[in-house]
Amino acid sequence: MSKKRIGIFGSTGSIGKQALDVIAAHPQLFEVEVLTANSNADLLITQALQFKPNAVVIADESKYNEVKNVLFDKGIKVFAGSQAMIEVATWSTIDLMLAAIVGFAGLAPTLAAIDQGTPVALANKETLVVAGDIVMAAAARKNVPVIPVDSEHSAIFQCLQGEPMNKIEKVILTASGGPFLGKKTNYLINVKKDHALQHPNWSMGAKISIDSATLMNKGLEMIEAKWLFGLEAEQIEVIVHPQSIIHSMVQFTDGSLKAQMGLPDMKLPIQYALAYPNRLDNEFPRFNFKNYPSLTFEQPDVKTFRNLAISMDVLKKGGNAPCIMNAANEEVVHAFLKNRIGFLQMTEVIEETLDKILFIEKPTLHDYYQTDAAAREHAASLINALT
Ligand code: NAD
Ligand code: MG
Repeated sequence: MSKKRIGIFGSTGSIGKQALDVIAAHPQLFEVEVLTANSNADLLITQALQFKPNAVVIADESKYNEVKNVLFDKGIKVFAGSQAMIEVATWSTIDLMLAAIVGFAGLAPTLAAIDQGTPVALANKETLVVAGDIVMAAAARKNVPVIPVDSEHSAIFQCLQGEPMNKIEKVILTASGGPFLGKKTNYLINVKKDHALQHPNWSMGAKISIDSATLMNKGLEMIEAKWLFGLEAEQIEVIVHPQSIIHSMVQFTDGSLKAQMGLPDMKLPIQYALAYPNRLDNEFPRFNFKNYPSLTFEQPDVKTFRNLAISMDVLKKGGNAPCIMNAANEEVVHAFLKNRIGFLQMTEVIEETLDKILFIEKPTLHDYYQTDAAAREHAASLINALT
């Protein structure tokens, strides 16, 4: 059997690195065709020397020579710039793209791969939040699978195996609650980035860690679930489950609930997506009931963590509203990580941006790009006014 050739877009990130660990553990099954990074030339070079891809792309063009000088002699093609990233995404030598870029920047290469008929293992939830209708329509047209990597969506996807004829009544996304579970506004007003970056159960990239602390991550995931599984807003619920053992659930129309469980480790959903429909042996630590005498559940506090309430509105509203919210969120998270604005100010800027940017009910791809740019500009001006 020939090896599956993987293109990892965003290989230097948290998901990308863990995907390379999975690939390294199964050299008989996978080989790396492409690696891409934003600007971390050192790590991209190290990864390329180890995994010997056909090509690497670095988005930051100022790093081109640095990367090329090392890899060219090794017979590895080197490209730079975001246009090159989109072009390489269309290569037919990629059997599966792992979309592990963070944020809106992941949309163009992912859509390019799907348009080319390449199956995608999708970690980059923002792609579906921004333009889920267009992305899923392209996947349907090309008949290519979009396999979720996000742990909640992987859980739902796993629960749906063997159920192609059966209808979903609802899905229940579990949320850890993040580092500030149980905290109130008077506490959150003072929290700083270092504390917000400490997630109790998962170690992740900076942006998703802040999104988890504000519960925006769960809001983005509700929208992601809508597109991946063709659901209505009313069919998507969130429950806080601080132990992160149940990764999400599906309730069918007979009332039966299926849950997927395991220790919180992103390598598991990554491995599942890379090897789908097969399950691979591994040595990951196993769940032990003795260590978890109680699994608990509670309602999310949407009054304190207003990003989740905003996301629910945006999910119902549809059109370009999720794109506006996502753009504003990317800007505020960036500003919070630079210590420019406070934790609760992130929500204020998102709300104001949603109020100001023109709503479009049936946006084209071009509309999404314009909406993203306009929303970022507006959010940036609000952030400037605050600092
Ligand atoms: P990260 O910040 O650790 O890594 C992001 C990767 O994208 C890096 O390789 C970076 O070089 C690249 N990148 C960033 N900006 C880019 C740009 N403008 N152009 C090209 N490349 C760019 O992020 P992460 O935590 O690995 O998350 C990646 C995606 O997976 C996100 O959408 C996140 O929501 C999702 N996700 C992550 C986790 C997790 O555990 N980390 C879990 C579920 C879903
Ligand atoms: Mg998740």
